[in-house]
Amino acid sequence: DTIGADLARTVAAFPDRDALVECATGRRWTYDQLAVEVDTVALGLLELGVAKGDRVGIWAPNCAEWMFVQYATAKIGAILVNINPAYRVHELEFVLNQSGIRTLVAAPSFKTSDYAAMIEEVRPRCPALRDVLLIGRESWEALRDAGWIGDPARLAAAGAGLSADDPINIQYTSGTTGFPKGATLSHHNILNNGYFVGELCGYDEEDRICVPVPFYHCFGMVMGNLAATSHGACVVIPAPAFDPAETLKAVAAERCTSLYGVPTMFIAELNDPSFEEHDLSSLRTGIMAGSPCPVEVMKQVIERMGMAEVAICYGMTETSPVSVQTRADDSLDRRVSTVGTVHPHLEIKVVDPDTGVTVPRGTPGELCTRGYSVMLGYWEEPEKTAEAIDAARWMHTGDLAVMDARGYVNITGRIKDMVIRGGENIYPREVEEFLYTHPDIVDAQVIGVPDEKYGEELMAWVRLRPGAEPLTSAALREFCAGRLAHYKIPRYVHLVDEFPMTVTGKVRKVQMREEAIGILG
Ligand code: ATP
Ligand code: MG
Repeated sequence: DTIGADLARTVAAFPDRDALVECATGRRWTYDQLAVEVDTVALGLLELGVAKGDRVGIWAPNCAEWMFVQYATAKIGAILVNINPAYRVHELEFVLNQSGIRTLVAAPSFKTSDYAAMIEEVRPRCPALRDVLLIGRESWEALRDAGWIGDPARLAAAGAGLSADDPINIQYTSGTTGFPKGATLSHHNILNNGYFVGELCGYDEEDRICVPVPFYHCFGMVMGNLAATSHGACVVIPAPAFDPAETLKAVAAERCTSLYGVPTMFIAELNDPSFEEHDLSSLRTGIMAGSPCPVEVMKQVIERMGMAEVAICYGMTETSPVSVQTRADDSLDRRVSTVGTVHPHLEIKVVDPDTGVTVPRGTPGELCTRGYSVMLGYWEEPEKTAEAIDAARWMHTGDLAVMDARGYVNITGRIKDMVIRGGENIYPREVEEFLYTHPDIVDAQVIGVPDEKYGEELMAWVRLRPGAEPLTSAALREFCAGRLAHYKIPRYVHLVDEFPMTVTGKVRKVQMREEAIGILG
């Protein structure tokens, strides 16, 4: 089905239920009210001359208008291009031109970034860009005015010309391992994935989902917005960008039943000084995803945040995104220590990355995904698409995984992050999991650094509990001795207050390696 048709079904079924709450401003919308906003923006875009297949960019932190534009573009078959809120001039120009954006909707500014000024700066170099609409400013209001008086029959006609297999979204990947790639996705890709994520979380119209993860990323716009609207649930936006205390406050004030985050966000919430002040008793479930989810953190989320049914999801932008997820009825041990089993209607396999042959269960290899969720391709990059998706339509994820006899998957790391020390393959993930058991360590990230003797050596970047005694390399090695194989014991320890991160909250190990080389001189 199309996203517009699916939203219309929910609006008809739950017109008076909450659809969206924006905590920073106190604005809120029922499904009926959301439908009006979406139609107004959709008609306004039609009046501007935006047609099926045209690219409409959205560059804003989380806000209600982001969601209006998401659904409005889907209703008229325009292709929404999600632009990372952290981008600066150079990257903005790249996305505008790479995807040929015709109409750009943007927040005028955010934090210290003057979006309006950056847009003006790149505009002369972006020939496809015709309209810029600044949210809350005159240009945006003019679009809405045009939408109000526009002819609803035009919207119906635009909707009638759509197919579920049309591209409607270009989502750039997080850029964790290099330059972001634009995954092109259809209604069918992301609507179904959002729906199945919601099914597996047991959502219905009673659920209220707190979404502190960015809408620009699939975690927010698919696992958040589409999972919610396909089930009549409500999306709660705690703040424009992630803030641990605001997130906890929103859960309590809006009685949220579900909370999302990448592991670093949950770590920040659990360690926030205000943690005990918030009543989190409404939480039943939630999703942790995006990067390796430490067992210790999962346990604390269940015990201290009361998220008894919390799920881990594994996926990637290119697969809409989720392909593997834990289920509420999996054993506790499996729910905290694996990413679960394959999603409905998808296939996965683990192959030898060199030969492409499926490996026996229990053997590490590259995870591959096939089915409805695999993207149409990278936008105007046929070569990169051909490298990622093979002739049999398997998406090669670049992630290392082990599947057990019952189909439970463990993600052991990224192929690019694997460290080879003296011929031994080391998965940093395993060492990190062990370091989390140290009483003074709140977060640990392990990388390989060049070494003359062994090729690579391990370096642990560690964030300590406030007030903890500084940890020396010798003390850490002593802690590991006898409990980790000798070659997995980090040679170096580097104490930090924070890690280099992407906007989606992922640790950028590429950048850590560069900095580490500088530190070691
Ligand atoms: P880029 O492709 O631009 O380098 P990225 O791969 O981080 O960035 P995304 O599509 O946002 O961009 O993230 C997908 C990746 O995130 C997966 O390939 C995987 O490495 C990681 N990931 C997602 N979920 C999990 C999880 N539950 N456990 C471990 N890793 C995960
Ligand atoms: Mg990737």
